Amino acid sequence: MSPREMPGKRRTVLLIEDNPKNARLMRRVLEREGFSILHAATGEEGIEIATEEEPDLILLDLGLPDVDGQTVAAYLKQDETLASIPLIVVTAWPSEAAREMVDAYGCEGYIGKPIDTREFPRLIANYLDIPSP
Ligand code: MN
Repeated sequence: MSPREMPGKRRTVLLIEDNPKNARLMRRVLEREGFSILHAATGEEGIEIATEEEPDLILLDLGLPDVDGQTVAAYLKQDETLASIPLIVVTAWPSEAAREMVDAYGCEGYIGKPIDTREFPRLIANYLDIPSP
């Protein structure tokens, strides 16, 4: 069953990404598979939307114009409510550095940039524990 057939069930993704091209691409491939996308272009906006909307999953770019992604991750993971939302870092960092960051901040995982547009929605579905599109 694709997420499209499961309305309202664990499929709202908050995308915290300042690069418009990257944000557009990720939105497109996820919307095509039935995910709803919330978008923030700064860390502060990302924290605001996460708090207000409590999305099912958060995708986090590390290079943001106001605060870095690590600051956003630290904030989200110390919040009692938001800490349980899967937080996935999307980064061009080498895998070892990305893994260290993810472990240090208690994130649930990372996805390398540039994203593989076929694999991307499947990875998101896996993190949400819903059937792969
Ligand atoms: Mn960036």
